[in-house]
Amino acid sequence: MEKVLEIVEKEKIEFIRIEFLDYAGITRGRTIRPAELRSAMEKGINFSTAIMSFDSMDEYIPNPTYGPNDGDFFAVPDPETFAIVPYRKNTARMICDLVDENGEPWEGCPRQALKRLLNEVESLLGGKMYLAFEQEAYLLKEVNGNLQPADQSHCFSIDGVDVQEDFLQEVVYSLEAMGVKTEQISSEYGPGQLEINLKYAPALKATDDQVTFAQVFKQVARNKGMIGTLMPKPFQHLAGSGLHVHISLFDPSGENLFEDITDQRGLDMSDKAYHFIGGILKHGPSLIAIGAPSVNSYKRMQPGSWAPAHICYGAGNRSVLVRIPEKRRTRRFEYRGADGTCNPYLLAACLVAAGLHGIQNRMDPGDPIDIDVSKMSEMELKEKGITWVPRNLSQAIDHLAEDTILAETIGRSIWEEFIKIKRTEWDKFNRHVSDWELRLLSSRF
Ligand code: GLU
Ligand code: MG
Ligand code: MG
Repeated sequence: MEKVLEIVEKEKIEFIRIEFLDYAGITRGRTIRPAELRSAMEKGINFSTAIMSFDSMDEYIPNPTYGPNDGDFFAVPDPETFAIVPYRKNTARMICDLVDENGEPWEGCPRQALKRLLNEVESLLGGKMYLAFEQEAYLLKEVNGNLQPADQSHCFSIDGVDVQEDFLQEVVYSLEAMGVKTEQISSEYGPGQLEINLKYAPALKATDDQVTFAQVFKQVARNKGMIGTLMPKPFQHLAGSGLHVHISLFDPSGENLFEDITDQRGLDMSDKAYHFIGGILKHGPSLIAIGAPSVNSYKRMQPGSWAPAHICYGAGNRSVLVRIPEKRRTRRFEYRGADGTCNPYLLAACLVAAGLHGIQNRMDPGDPIDIDVSKMSEMELKEKGITWVPRNLSQAIDHLAEDTILAETIGRSIWEEFIKIKRTEWDKFNRHVSDWELRLLSSRF
């Protein structure tokens, strides 16, 4: 704490953003002046509990768990997350843990839920979870009131990175100045679509880094007159944007607990890894609700699209929910079912909880799938026990509403509230009559 106060003084920081994520994944908070910082770190800054579920679409959710009479929580900035925001003058930011009026972890705090679970994993598995987030995102520009891709780049083309090099370098330098390491930058499949891979880190730090990435990407784009968006499917005919999460487990000496070169399946993965994957597949439909929580998310997960449409795993296969990368890379696996509209703390907590449940119950994920799942017939899918990912938000939420393990993981109150928010979002979408329906049905009937 003292170190943070020293830096604030030395670097002449005038504004400190106090940040946390609500259930819908929106970063919220306030900016405080330096004189407030000591008290903020000691006691927290108060907010109404109700702001955690304010609807992003400007309507109140019916019957929210937290209302105007439900008091406050306190956001306590974590000194480990202090970072100077390089593209703003004299500004820093800190990510917060939310506590109740007694200073105890607040039941409604997603970051605390993740921390709780990570402690549990460490004591139960004797290892530490590491994550690496890979976010795909589009750069858009507005032309005559329409949003369109900011360039006409091709997949992995050097032109694609060259044309956005000023933007990309500013994102990377800003992230690095904020303590977020990046590894690779690519021009993705769609025109104007990019991917920046963050370096793996202990799960909490990696998740904080993803939050930082999202803010930096969007703001640097705005500074350059563009719109940077993580939305999963901005255009029907162009590739969607996923948020892939690489998951690994190391013991304190650095040994990879997901590796075993005597693996009978020949993938050099340990039993722990297979059971972890077994847990993810078992909780697959409800994990989709957490990781792909927008109506738009389901437009991305189409068969044949490189985004998962089925719940299964495979090695070197990008049509599955869980991919095991080639053997030349460190043994780990990639969860492909999430997108940038999720709350990454809830996602990380639920992925780890599902995996832990799998390890504790030695869940067998079955054999890996090595063909494009979209080419399999319904009969083959049935024979192999492979199910579709939920086809829309409503179906996914129904699964989450049945999942008591995930409810315990994120806490009953977050779970309840998340389900209410997302059902409201679905209902709004469902009431919307689209041009497509009008055209099709008015001509037929
Ligand atoms: N864009 C795809 C997705 O939505 C992933 C493509 C890739 O494997 O990088 O998940
Ligand atoms: Mg990609
Ligand atoms: Mg990937």
